[in-house]
Amino acid sequence: MKKILVTGGAGFLGSHLCHELVDQGHHVLCADNYFTGSRTNIWNLLARPNFEVIRHDICQPLYVEVDEIYNLACPASPKYYQLDPIQTLKTSVIGTFNMLGLAKRTGAKILQASTSEIYGDPEQHPQTETYWGHVNPMGPRSCYDEGKRAAETLCYDYARKHAVDSKIIRIFNTYGPRMAGDDGRVVSNFIVQALSNKPLTMYGDGSQTRSFCYVADLIRGMLAVMQSSEAGPINLGNPKEFTMLELAKKIITKTNSQSEIIFEPLPVDDPRQRQPDISKANKILNWNPLIQLDRGLDLTIDYFRTCK
Ligand code: NAD
Ligand code: UDP
Ligand code: UDP
Repeated sequence: MKKILVTGGAGFLGSHLCHELVDQGHHVLCADNYFTGSRTNIWNLLARPNFEVIRHDICQPLYVEVDEIYNLACPASPKYYQLDPIQTLKTSVIGTFNMLGLAKRTGAKILQASTSEIYGDPEQHPQTETYWGHVNPMGPRSCYDEGKRAAETLCYDYARKHAVDSKIIRIFNTYGPRMAGDDGRVVSNFIVQALSNKPLTMYGDGSQTRSFCYVADLIRGMLAVMQSSEAGPINLGNPKEFTMLELAKKIITKTNSQSEIIFEPLPVDDPRQRQPDISKANKILNWNPLIQLDRGLDLTIDYFRTCK
């Protein structure tokens, strides 16, 4: 059994990853500063003997002995990563630098949670890993997009210069239970609004697209990348693409909601469309998402109903 560090382990994806790794019998160390994560996400792991948690900001050095590092620490929702853009950039750059230093000293493998945002508002559709992106370096999303791009660069430079075994996954919009209700991302916003019969806040005319991956599929892909010899980058996401209007209507129907849809201005630099090309993950890892949006939304709606 391995000693595994999960940074951002009290967040949405991190908590699912911690649960899975603890169930597999590994010794899991979760490091989180609780900026967007919460202790309730890892509550039922606290009594497990192979789980440990520390309150820690990865912008500070961390000296622990581990075999693998999953570097997930970073707010992922535009609402939160724009709240303190300098801290967001520091987390991606200084935080990843520290985790790479830790990997270098211990010889641990490190998996970096990158993002489809590194493609920006893409001019190539769907996006393949070879596409370099179309990113505004000066806008409100830049702290996240450019931070994640610089983090990728650091991973490749530590691999070339110090032979660190680093792996990069580019995660496309992922949703599911344990997203925070006030997180601000579209799936949780619409579900929370629909369940309380409040208007669904549509930014823009709703014709922009996203491709939504259910969390269990994403975690399976993440584990497969860590176990493989592949350095990446590898896109992980569900290629089925929807407009935000389609998403809103699905959620209203599924929740039997009385909510109407109200239209608000589209945020600056909001990508018009996004769809992963996952042929690389399919070929190298034999990975495909299995849970489609209808089933995934049912599971997520059930979660928000019970934790309301
Ligand atoms: P999240 O906001 O739920 O989780 C992020 C976690 O990191 C939180 O627990 C937060 O408290 C913690 N954190 C933030 N800054 C930290 C710091 N400086 N030190 C220690 N902990 C810190 O988001 P998520 O959806 O679980 O995303 C996890 C990772 O996956 C992020 O790196 C994100 O960029 C990436 N990602 C997620 C998605 C998605 O759709 N969910 C898409 C692309 C990339
Ligand atoms: N670091 C860490 N834990 C370790 C080793 C290093 O947090 O176990 C941090 C430390 O802050 C250091 C950074 O990682 O500054 C980068 O380490 P590296 O050895 O690559 O660079 P250097 O210390 O030589 O600048
Ligand atoms: N969005 C929306 N209403 C909301 C939250 C988001 O219309 O209440 C839109 C947002 O403008 C974007 C899409 O939904 O076009 C996905 O937004 P999210 O923040 O979930 O992810 P990202 O933009 O980072 O892909």
